[in-house]
Amino acid sequence: MIYLDYSATTPVSFDVLDSYNKTTKEFIGNPNSLHRLGSKSNELLRSATKQISDLLKVMESEIFFTSGATESNNMALIGVALANHKKGNHILVSKLEHPSIYAICDYLTSIGFEVEYINNDNEGLIDFDDLKNKMRQDTILVSVNAVNSETGVRQPLKFIRQIIRKENQETIFHSDMTQAIGKTSICLNDVDMASFSAHKIYGPKGIGLLYKNSKIRIVPLEYGSGKSSNLKPGTPALPLIVAFSKAIRIALTDIDKREHFISRLNEKICTSLNKYPDVVVNSTKHSIPHILNVSVLGLKPETFLHALEEHEVYISTNTACSSGEISSSVMAIYNDEKRAASTLRISLSHLTTTDEINKFLDYFDTVYKKLKFWFSAI
Ligand code: PMP
Repeated sequence: MIYLDYSATTPVSFDVLDSYNKTTKEFIGNPNSLHRLGSKSNELLRSATKQISDLLKVMESEIFFTSGATESNNMALIGVALANHKKGNHILVSKLEHPSIYAICDYLTSIGFEVEYINNDNEGLIDFDDLKNKMRQDTILVSVNAVNSETGVRQPLKFIRQIIRKENQETIFHSDMTQAIGKTSICLNDVDMASFSAHKIYGPKGIGLLYKNSKIRIVPLEYGSGKSSNLKPGTPALPLIVAFSKAIRIALTDIDKREHFISRLNEKICTSLNKYPDVVVNSTKHSIPHILNVSVLGLKPETFLHALEEHEVYISTNTACSSGEISSSVMAIYNDEKRAASTLRISLSHLTTTDEINKFLDYFDTVYKKLKFWFSAI
């Protein structure tokens, strides 16, 4: 099997799974219980949270566990909107966001908020002038992801933050950092809120977090009991949280070394794909090497994906969450429907080997020739 869909999800690392298993077996108490078993679990919860806050260089009280980045995004965007509706109802988001952000924006629009979309240049970067021009006194929130999940384009969050601050000191800046953490450096000082998910960094599925600066007030979306978190009531998912803290620690180790290795794999693929006249690379010079997006013009990406699957090669069309639709990110960058309708996302990891890439390129060639022959014969 050749797995090249690491941006959709990653396999859980053995060390992380080990932490999960040990915590499940040895910490049976509810962290909210008053007795000794509860206190023991609560201590572990606090120490895992502290480890995460140290790694992310924020305060423990600024970490809120969720079920994943979709929930973190909901908590952030809807929470800010509801808490600030008296100040304004204007929200800005980029055109290169994850589908979950657009779904939330549709909901916010349906309840009376005004959502506007920031343009980008033809390399995928936010159009800074457009952002400046669209900022208003009633802009309560701006959300721009750190790394786009489809094309890997990385945004300069620090600079974006400066523009926002200059135009309106009160505007809250959220970033979906799900595809950035572990792949490139992140700095939570550049934003007010950020979303993360464990399963993108070799952690378990079903756990994520929202970083929220302590100065920001948001309205909770869930109500219930439990002393651990006012935003996410109920029993904390201790084994998942402990496993997540381990996954973050591993993810933040050797980023540069891993990136260097992955860059070489990426270059190898690009050089090889260059020889096909109707294969175009959609990732830009601002893309991280882990996410390589290409279009095989004139071919349905699902057909290509399933043909590769016959050889046990696994890639994505655009993102796992929007399969079947055209790539909104490629459309936003190139404004070319043909290109956006035929995208394939190859996502790489430090676990990927050169041998896997060689085999992938051979299978790509076989599938390309077969499908081109079929379609030209029709
Ligand atoms: N945001 C981004 C940028 C993502 O890539 C994903 C996963 N495709 C999500 C949010 C949703 O994450 P989760 O599966 O943890 O809800």
